[in-house]
Amino acid sequence: MLTKDRAVCIRTVDYSETSQILTLFGRLSGKIRAIAKGSKRAKSAFEGPIEVLSFGQIMYSPAYEGKLATLTEFQQAPVRGAIRGNLFTLHCTLFAAELVDLLTDDYDPHPDLFDQFIGFLQDIEEGKLETTRRDILIRLALFQLVLLYEAGLRPILGSCVNCKRPFRPDWGETYFSHTANGLVCRDCEMSFPDKVLLSTKAAKYLTDVKQIANADDKTLDEIERVLIRHLTGILGHRLKMAEYVQGSSNAKV
Ligand SMILES: [Zn+2]
Repeated sequence: MLTKDRAVCIRTVDYSETSQILTLFGRLSGKIRAIAKGSKRAKSAFEGPIEVLSFGQIMYSPAYEGKLATLTEFQQAPVRGAIRGNLFTLHCTLFAAELVDLLTDDYDPHPDLFDQFIGFLQDIEEGKLETTRRDILIRLALFQLVLLYEAGLRPILGSCVNCKRPFRPDWGETYFSHTANGLVCRDCEMSFPDKVLLSTKAAKYLTDVKQIANADDKTLDEIERVLIRHLTGILGHRLKMAEYVQGSSNAKV
């Protein structure tokens, strides 16, 4: 039986001279591992190899007993090339795809997360989101927080995880601890050796993420560093795209 869905490709592996194994993130299907037979042929039904971050309507026959699903159709939405036209944008969206792959399970749907991800990609392609480092970092941080929430790993950002004291900008020192999964105040920080000191601004915007668009560039870089450190801790290994995302903020891309 064929299943229809909308999906974004989050990983590709060459399977043979002519085929690819894809990891797709479907709106209603969740993560699907599928073979696209003949996709590397110029004249296949897929019109050439499928690239990571391409998205559109798919048709597939689901997997049984641990086997791969079979992709039969992928009608890719037209793209203007804005994602691939800017290296930092490409790196950040590839990082988002890597995180979706690592933090969601096969056939476990997350429609809200899918909509966020597609919205991120479409806004870039349609020119609604400027591909400046700052605009991309804002959207990436918001996406990462939605992803953590959807994965059941929501960090505690409004108060000290340990003593429950609500965050105030006049705390003086505010820390983020990966093991505590959130903010820690100066009275509690000694119990969490992995903590990192946050600037007051970073703590403020993490607590009130709706205001994150007002953060300055330095604070956005700091927030991303904290999120990467936290995500790396959760996953227990180095993240492939992280070093490209948290590189020097002076790097012109
Ligand atoms: Zn505390």
